[in-house]
Amino acid sequence: MQENKETNEYYENGICKKCKQAYIDTSEGKYSILCSECREQQIQYPIPKILIGIGILLLVLVVRSIILIINNFY
Ligand SMILES: [Zn+2]
Repeated sequence: MQENKETNEYYENGICKKCKQAYIDTSEGKYSILCSECREQQIQYPIPKILIGIGILLLVLVVRSIILIINNFY
């Protein structure tokens, strides 16, 4: 009985805490408790790549306009 309990606990430690079907993916985090699929669902890409692109574009435009303003002053 005692041995069975320990085996189950060890087994559950390697299983995704959300879906309890897939093994935990520890490739990106040692203390991850989710499989790769559930983690992606959990993260849901809070910053889509298109937003990062727009952000960089805006930054470039702002820097360029600042340079233009500085050039106009001198
Ligand atoms: Zn999962």
